[in-house]
Amino acid sequence: MKEKYIPIAVNGGIGFGSWLKPKQLMVLGEYLEDDQEVELTTLQQLIIKIPETQLEEAKQRFDEVGLHYYKVGNFVKSLRTCNFCKGEEEEGMPVAKELNKRIAGQEVPFTLRPAYTGCPVGCGESLVNDIGVMKKKDLYQLYIGGQAKGYNAHVGKLFADDLEPEDLYSLVDRILEIYREKGRKREKFSKFVNRYGMEKIKEEL
Ligand code: SF4
Repeated sequence: MKEKYIPIAVNGGIGFGSWLKPKQLMVLGEYLEDDQEVELTTLQQLIIKIPETQLEEAKQRFDEVGLHYYKVGNFVKSLRTCNFCKGEEEEGMPVAKELNKRIAGQEVPFTLRPAYTGCPVGCGESLVNDIGVMKKKDLYQLYIGGQAKGYNAHVGKLFADDLEPEDLYSLVDRILEIYREKGRKREKFSKFVNRYGMEKIKEEL
Protein backbone atom coordinates (compact mmCIF):
# COMPACT_ATOMS: atom_id res chain seq x y z
CA MET A 1 0.00 0.00 0.00
CA LYS A 2 1.18 3.52 -0.80
CA GLU A 3 2.66 5.37 2.18
CA LYS A 4 0.65 8.36 3.41
CA TYR A 5 2.59 11.58 4.03
CA ILE A 6 1.61 14.07 6.74
CA PRO A 7 2.57 17.74 6.28
CA ILE A 8 3.90 19.50 9.36
CA ALA A 9 5.33 22.97 9.91
CA VAL A 10 8.71 23.10 11.63
CA ASN A 11 10.87 25.87 13.05
CA GLY A 12 13.44 26.50 15.76
CA GLY A 13 10.96 28.05 18.19
CA ILE A 14 10.85 31.61 19.48
CA GLY A 15 14.22 33.24 20.05
CA PHE A 16 16.52 36.03 18.88
CA GLY A 17 15.66 35.82 15.19
CA SER A 18 14.88 32.69 13.19
CA TRP A 19 17.73 30.20 13.30
CA LEU A 20 18.24 26.52 12.67
CA LYS A 21 21.33 24.69 13.87
CA PRO A 22 23.24 22.15 11.70
CA LYS A 23 22.19 19.26 13.96
CA GLN A 24 18.54 20.29 13.51
CA LEU A 25 18.94 20.36 9.73
CA MET A 26 20.57 16.93 9.85
CA VAL A 27 17.63 15.50 11.80
CA LEU A 28 15.21 17.04 9.30
CA GLY A 29 17.23 15.40 6.52
CA GLU A 30 16.68 11.98 8.11
CA TYR A 31 13.00 12.21 7.19
CA LEU A 32 13.27 13.82 3.74
CA GLU A 33 13.71 12.08 0.47
CA ASP A 34 16.45 13.34 -1.88
CA ASP A 35 14.13 15.15 -4.26
CA GLN A 36 11.52 16.28 -1.73
CA GLU A 37 10.74 19.99 -1.83
CA VAL A 38 10.72 21.92 1.42
CA GLU A 39 8.57 25.02 1.52
CA LEU A 40 9.85 28.06 3.41
CA THR A 41 6.85 30.14 4.47
CA THR A 42 6.56 33.80 5.39
CA LEU A 43 5.67 32.63 8.90
CA GLN A 44 9.21 31.52 9.69
CA GLN A 45 8.33 27.85 9.16
CA LEU A 46 9.48 25.01 6.93
CA ILE A 47 6.71 22.78 5.63
CA ILE A 48 7.82 19.19 5.28
CA LYS A 49 6.00 15.94 4.63
CA ILE A 50 6.75 12.97 6.85
CA PRO A 51 5.67 9.37 6.17
CA GLU A 52 2.79 8.66 8.55
CA THR A 53 4.49 5.54 9.91
CA GLN A 54 7.52 7.62 10.97
CA LEU A 55 5.65 10.62 12.38
CA GLU A 56 5.81 9.79 16.09
CA GLU A 57 9.48 8.82 15.90
CA ALA A 58 10.22 12.02 13.96
CA LYS A 59 8.51 14.14 16.62
CA GLN A 60 10.67 12.53 19.30
CA ARG A 61 13.82 13.26 17.29
CA PHE A 62 12.67 16.86 16.75
CA ASP A 63 12.13 17.25 20.51
CA GLU A 64 15.67 15.99 21.14
CA VAL A 65 17.24 18.72 19.00
CA GLY A 66 14.83 21.53 19.93
CA LEU A 67 12.81 21.67 16.73
CA HIS A 68 9.24 22.87 17.18
CA TYR A 69 6.45 21.42 15.03
CA TYR A 70 2.89 22.47 14.32
CA LYS A 71 -0.16 21.14 12.48
CA VAL A 72 -0.83 22.40 8.96
CA GLY A 73 -4.37 23.45 8.01
CA ASN A 74 -7.13 25.34 9.78
CA PHE A 75 -5.24 25.89 13.00
CA VAL A 76 -3.65 28.83 14.77
CA LYS A 77 -0.14 29.10 13.32
CA SER A 78 2.97 29.52 15.44
CA LEU A 79 3.49 33.07 16.64
CA ARG A 80 5.47 35.20 14.24
CA THR A 81 7.84 37.39 16.27
CA CYS A 82 10.34 40.19 15.91
CA ASN A 83 14.03 39.54 16.62
CA PHE A 84 13.94 40.83 20.23
CA CYS A 85 16.93 43.06 19.45
CA LYS A 86 16.75 44.90 22.78
CA GLY A 87 16.90 41.80 24.95
CA GLU A 88 14.84 38.85 26.09
CA GLU A 89 13.23 40.32 29.21
CA GLU A 90 12.93 43.89 28.00
CA GLU A 91 11.03 42.83 24.90
CA GLY A 92 8.88 40.16 26.55
CA MET A 93 10.19 36.96 24.98
CA PRO A 94 8.82 34.79 27.84
CA VAL A 95 5.36 36.25 27.20
CA ALA A 96 5.65 35.51 23.48
CA LYS A 97 6.72 31.92 24.24
CA GLU A 98 3.86 31.39 26.67
CA LEU A 99 1.30 32.88 24.29
CA ASN A 100 2.59 30.65 21.50
CA LYS A 101 2.39 27.59 23.76
CA ARG A 102 -1.23 28.36 24.59
CA ILE A 103 -2.61 29.17 21.16
CA ALA A 104 -0.50 27.55 18.40
CA GLY A 105 -2.32 24.51 17.03
CA GLN A 106 -5.79 25.47 18.30
CA GLU A 107 -8.47 24.55 15.79
CA VAL A 108 -10.18 27.52 14.12
CA PRO A 109 -12.51 28.00 11.10
CA PHE A 110 -9.62 29.18 8.90
CA THR A 111 -5.82 29.34 9.26
CA LEU A 112 -5.04 32.15 11.69
CA ARG A 113 -1.77 34.07 11.84
CA PRO A 114 -0.77 35.61 15.16
CA ALA A 115 2.18 37.97 15.49
CA TYR A 116 4.17 39.55 18.30
CA THR A 117 6.43 42.56 18.36
CA GLY A 118 8.63 43.57 21.28
CA CYS A 119 8.37 47.35 20.93
CA PRO A 120 6.42 49.94 18.90
CA VAL A 121 8.99 49.82 16.06
CA GLY A 122 6.89 46.84 15.07
CA CYS A 123 9.33 44.52 13.23
CA GLY A 124 7.05 41.55 14.02
CA GLU A 125 4.31 43.22 11.91
CA SER A 126 1.60 42.68 14.51
CA LEU A 127 -0.82 45.15 12.93
CA VAL A 128 -1.09 43.28 9.62
CA ASN A 129 -1.77 39.86 11.09
CA ASP A 130 -5.00 38.32 12.37
CA ILE A 131 -4.04 38.70 16.01
CA GLY A 132 -1.25 41.09 16.87
CA VAL A 133 0.46 41.78 20.17
CA MET A 134 2.69 44.78 20.75
CA LYS A 135 4.69 45.34 23.92
CA LYS A 136 4.31 48.89 25.20
CA LYS A 137 6.60 49.65 28.14
CA ASP A 138 5.73 46.94 30.70
CA LEU A 139 2.31 46.08 29.31
CA TYR A 140 0.78 44.74 26.11
CA GLN A 141 -1.54 45.95 23.38
CA LEU A 142 -3.78 43.56 21.48
CA TYR A 143 -4.81 44.22 17.87
CA ILE A 144 -7.22 42.04 15.91
CA GLY A 145 -8.37 41.65 12.33
CA GLY A 146 -5.30 42.81 10.38
CA GLN A 147 -4.68 41.46 6.89
CA ALA A 148 -1.43 41.76 4.95
CA LYS A 149 -2.53 40.29 1.62
CA GLY A 150 -5.00 41.12 -1.15
CA TYR A 151 -6.68 44.27 -2.46
CA ASN A 152 -8.34 44.86 0.86
CA ALA A 153 -5.18 44.59 2.95
CA HIS A 154 -5.56 46.65 6.11
CA VAL A 155 -4.21 47.05 9.61
CA GLY A 156 -5.88 45.49 12.62
CA LYS A 157 -7.77 47.51 15.21
CA LEU A 158 -6.70 48.06 18.79
CA PHE A 159 -8.86 45.70 20.83
CA ALA A 160 -7.35 46.15 24.29
CA ASP A 161 -4.57 48.23 25.80
CA ASP A 162 -2.32 48.05 28.87
CA LEU A 163 -2.78 44.31 29.41
CA GLU A 164 -0.87 42.27 31.97
CA PRO A 165 0.43 38.97 30.53
CA GLU A 166 -2.25 36.80 32.20
CA ASP A 167 -5.01 39.09 30.93
CA LEU A 168 -3.51 38.96 27.45
CA TYR A 169 -3.45 35.14 27.41
CA SER A 170 -7.04 34.76 28.60
CA LEU A 171 -8.33 37.48 26.28
CA VAL A 172 -6.74 35.89 23.21
CA ASP A 173 -8.07 32.49 24.28
CA ARG A 174 -11.60 33.85 24.66
CA ILE A 175 -11.46 35.62 21.28
CA LEU A 176 -10.42 32.34 19.66
CA GLU A 177 -13.33 30.60 21.38
CA ILE A 178 -15.79 33.19 20.03
CA TYR A 179 -14.29 32.80 16.55
CA ARG A 180 -14.75 29.02 16.79
CA GLU A 181 -18.35 29.40 17.99
CA LYS A 182 -19.54 32.21 15.72
CA GLY A 183 -17.21 32.10 12.72
CA ARG A 184 -18.49 30.50 9.52
CA LYS A 185 -16.73 27.51 8.02
CA ARG A 186 -13.54 28.72 6.25
CA GLU A 187 -14.28 32.35 7.18
CA LYS A 188 -11.01 34.23 7.57
CA PHE A 189 -10.54 35.85 10.95
CA SER A 190 -10.31 39.39 9.52
CA LYS A 191 -13.60 38.85 7.67
CA PHE A 192 -15.16 37.48 10.82
CA VAL A 193 -14.07 40.56 12.80
CA ASN A 194 -15.61 42.82 10.12
CA ARG A 195 -18.85 40.86 9.87
CA TYR A 196 -19.39 40.11 13.54
CA GLY A 197 -18.01 43.40 14.82
CA MET A 198 -15.49 44.36 17.47
CA GLU A 199 -18.20 45.60 19.84
CA LYS A 200 -20.13 42.33 19.67
CA ILE A 201 -16.96 40.37 20.35
CA LYS A 202 -16.33 42.59 23.37
CA GLU A 203 -19.89 42.04 24.62
CA GLU A 204 -19.34 38.28 24.58
CA LEU A 205 -16.11 38.25 26.55
S1 SF4 B 1 10.19 45.31 17.27
FE1 SF4 B 1 11.57 46.42 18.59
S2 SF4 B 1 12.54 44.83 19.89
FE2 SF4 B 1 11.61 43.80 18.14
S3 SF4 B 1 13.29 43.62 16.65
FE3 SF4 B 1 12.12 45.49 16.15
S4 SF4 B 1 13.19 47.15 17.21
FE4 SF4 B 1 13.88 45.18 18.11
